[in-house]
Amino acid sequence: MATVPELFGKNVFDDRQMKARLPEKVYNSIRKTIEEGKQLDLSLANAVASAMKDWAVENGATHYTHWFQPMTGVTAEKHDSFISPAPDGGVLMEFSGKELIKGEPDASSFPSGGLRATFEARGYTAWDPTSFAFIKDKTLCIPTAFCSYTGDALDKKTPLLRSMSALNKQALRILKLFGNDSVHMVTTSVGPEQEYFLIPKEMYDLREDLIFTGRTLFGAKPPKGQEMDDHYFGIIKPRVAEFMKDLNDELWKLGILAKTEHNEVAPAQHELAPIYSTTNIATDHNQLTMEIMQKVASKHGLVCLLHEKPFAGVNGSGKHNNWSIATDTGVNLLTPGETPYENAQFLLFLVAVIKAVDEYQDLLRLSVATAGNDHRLGANEAPPAVISIFLGDELEGVLDAIENETDYTGSKSAKMKLGVDVLPEFKKDTTDRNRTSPFAFTGNKFEFRMLGSSNSIACANIMLNSAVAEILKDFADKLEKASDFEKDLHELIKSTIKEHKRIIFNGNGYGDEWMEEAAKRGLSNLKTTPDCMPKLLDKKNADMLVGHGVFTQAELESRCEIMLENYTKAVNIEALTMVDMAKKQIIPAVEDYVASLVTTASRKMKISADIPMEYEKEVISKLSSLVDIIYDRTNILEAATIKLKDIEDITEQAYYIRDEILAKMASLRVAADEAETLTDKKYWPFPTYGDLLFGVR
Ligand code: ADP
Ligand code: MG
Repeated sequence: MATVPELFGKNVFDDRQMKARLPEKVYNSIRKTIEEGKQLDLSLANAVASAMKDWAVENGATHYTHWFQPMTGVTAEKHDSFISPAPDGGVLMEFSGKELIKGEPDASSFPSGGLRATFEARGYTAWDPTSFAFIKDKTLCIPTAFCSYTGDALDKKTPLLRSMSALNKQALRILKLFGNDSVHMVTTSVGPEQEYFLIPKEMYDLREDLIFTGRTLFGAKPPKGQEMDDHYFGIIKPRVAEFMKDLNDELWKLGILAKTEHNEVAPAQHELAPIYSTTNIATDHNQLTMEIMQKVASKHGLVCLLHEKPFAGVNGSGKHNNWSIATDTGVNLLTPGETPYENAQFLLFLVAVIKAVDEYQDLLRLSVATAGNDHRLGANEAPPAVISIFLGDELEGVLDAIENETDYTGSKSAKMKLGVDVLPEFKKDTTDRNRTSPFAFTGNKFEFRMLGSSNSIACANIMLNSAVAEILKDFADKLEKASDFEKDLHELIKSTIKEHKRIIFNGNGYGDEWMEEAAKRGLSNLKTTPDCMPKLLDKKNADMLVGHGVFTQAELESRCEIMLENYTKAVNIEALTMVDMAKKQIIPAVEDYVASLVTTASRKMKISADIPMEYEKEVISKLSSLVDIIYDRTNILEAATIKLKDIEDITEQAYYIRDEILAKMASLRVAADEAETLTDKKYWPFPTYGDLLFGVR
């Protein structure tokens, strides 16, 4: 058995491999490329490609692929083998620098939201050397960005890298003002905590809804749900423990820092958290993690559900995006420092994040909007669709003191004077207790908790990085002109707190009271995907994103269209699946059971008219009317899906889904779920909630 250090990164062409296998000159040059984003010239790329190929072939790889993240939300790969014919009739394993740097996948079937139609039909992929190549399924995978020939981003990684560079640029300006000349690069880091469900494969296979849509569209409440709170951090069942062990091994081989695992709140729900890494790498790793989870589950006879809301009535799954900003000199800019000066710098970054979140609430909200996540956000589940920031009482006390120029009467009861006083130490314990906040400060990072479990973390981080870059730019513009830096800094922090404190909320984020209060504060409450997606094109948002070079106007328009299209397609498939299940499975099953009751009743009648048959009479009658209701509602839903086809405008389609289709789906479900509670289990055509949620033993 290999030890963890032996296993770790075994399938990655990481720094250790590069150092060992590349000539020093090539190695130094690739480090420069990685660290400074410098271009790699072709002769060097040839050397890297050749070493990479030798390593890959030694480790069993036969193919290579440019691995990228198109707008479908999943990753894409097209495998080419290394082989090339040799004169002696055999083959050589070849891989050139050109093939490493650039790929040309036939991209016509990836969503482009009209971008490629108007420009060029083909797309290309370009190597992101900051994310190491790795081997998966005997294939050397090269992490890449995916663009059209005119340079429009067709993926999630390109704008993510652009947003990181925007933030880097503005943060460096701020650091310079504080006299930090030794910092050359500022990057954001993310540790995404991933929630998921595990259910038995043989049960999954019997449910069309899970197969086609990833979530259950029918299912009555089981006698036991999550009310006992006995699953969270509970003992991990042996079968799940074996899955987790295998999963860790596979992730470690890929250099993914899988760290903690535990049971979540809902039955059959679990969580995996990695150690944080640079945002683009964390994004690649999270995509890989989701993929490997599903593969490993299948080896264990399980299915890993990544949908945001696989089961009605029990908690859905999210992803906590732990985000921080750090310098290449190893300083986390979201850590309160030890000297007054460091503290002032910390407070400036802190209020920049506060202002960014307040001003770009809608962008953050829409960055996590999908049909699946709509079932969580704004639907009586954690967290709400309203964005607010939790700071904790201590830090809020500090901000209060600055705003009002009063004494800070926190744990140290010291007077807050910026640039003079040392901040109290924030213990993690005092900052990490609010689980209902969508955006919480947790000591040295912010935890953005609105992401859906199946979301790529790219989208949320693109918006977060860009919004913070914009505020830092504004701050730098002002402070670079300051005549008295300390005074102006103090005023800037003070006025920012005053203007944006409405976004700070330390209370319970789930209650109705907060919804009312949030409305009074003027915070946005965008409940569904069609509500928020068009905001992407609001002038304020578009100007900001285009201004930092994160998106072009055309890219924004295309993204808005793709996201609405994804929403409409997802719900439409759900509606069609419901129609199919109702017609071909539920109605026939209920009818069978009714027929059996009729047989029983008529047999009883034959013996004697006096034998009681209240049960038969009542259930036959109830189920017969339910069958009619189900049939009727199925027809209504089907008609609505046909009408959808007549709507041309994508936004109108999304509104129609939101207002008509989803309501019709819900009403069909109510009738079918009621029928389930009256029907003999052996007649029910697919596994129940009880089977699915408690089936892994
Ligand atoms: P918990 O929430 O269980 O108390 P932590 O807060 O330590 O655990 O970590 C939760 C997640 O946050 C982990 O994925 C961790 O790697 C990540 N994390 C910790 N520190 C940072 C940081 N400075 N930047 C980004 N992510 C971080
Ligand atoms: Mg968390």
